[in-house]
Amino acid sequence: MPAEWVDFKSVKAKVSMETVLSHYDVRLRRVGVDQFRGKCPLPTHSSARSNDSFSVSFTRNAWSCQSASCIAARSGRVGGNVFDFVAEMERCSIREAALRLDRSLIENLLPVATSGDKQPEPYTSENRPLSFTLRNIDHRHSYVISRGLSVQTARYFGVGYYDGNGFLRGRVVIPIHNEHGELVAYSGRTIDETEPKYRLPAGFRKSHVLFNLHRAIQSRVYTLILVEGFFDTFKIHQAGHRNVAALMGSKLSDRQAELIGTHFDQVTLMLDADEAGKAATVAAETALSSVVGVQIVELASGTQPDQLASEDINQLLGGLDHDVPTPDR
Ligand SMILES: [Zn+2]
Repeated sequence: MPAEWVDFKSVKAKVSMETVLSHYDVRLRRVGVDQFRGKCPLPTHSSARSNDSFSVSFTRNAWSCQSASCIAARSGRVGGNVFDFVAEMERCSIREAALRLDRSLIENLLPVATSGDKQPEPYTSENRPLSFTLRNIDHRHSYVISRGLSVQTARYFGVGYYDGNGFLRGRVVIPIHNEHGELVAYSGRTIDETEPKYRLPAGFRKSHVLFNLHRAIQSRVYTLILVEGFFDTFKIHQAGHRNVAALMGSKLSDRQAELIGTHFDQVTLMLDADEAGKAATVAAETALSSVVGVQIVELASGTQPDQLASEDINQLLGGLDHDVPTPDR
């Protein structure tokens, strides 16, 4: 019988470390922008003392275990990729690991766990607070200024050019918090036309948060101005409105709708006036109108809030009931 054929490259493209870890119900905690750490799940791991030796990078799709006995049991290999991980877990060859992953994909067994009837939550279902903050961020960088932000605004949001190490190096970083005000991620925007325009840590769920929501809640205004992007938020804030939050895209998720309904009575939609933004406005209005009152700001075709001067923003928002402080409730 001829050996079963397996396309390593295509399997590798479809299966991430995140999927595989979720499959084996391995839970790690975030220790860096793109670093997760925890107890080593491999059968080669025998040391009871090193219980925090396993680490993973999702952007590189790579893992390693630093325990000396675990490395020795793996013939000196410190870590590897998705196939190496599955091979170690299943105690099979790399080829067999790739075959098993391929079969699991065909049978739709991935990314859902197959063991027993319990279906574990993907372990990154919640954006966990970061245990660090980036330092030496330049709020006066020319890119920040070129987007129309004052140094005061940049400082307020913690936005600026980052020259340190890691996947955000050489980008303008934007701290993202959850609704409680805990820092959960940094996004990094290129300062030129390099793709991707924005970088976010692997495993980060942007559909679970609204950018700047914690400050909008603190503004004690009962209407939320909802925009698409980070820079829309900065410009609306700079025009004097603290009750603004961003979708970080154009699609409103169920979780985001729920967050809005929990904290606000009304929403003013101010999405981009392009095709995607117009469609998103209709979808958001439909999704939100059963939860809160919805008002829509219509921008001139082809424009978006981050391109507008404060006077234009205030004129557009001026006729609307958007800045009234929340009555005591
Ligand atoms: Zn180990």
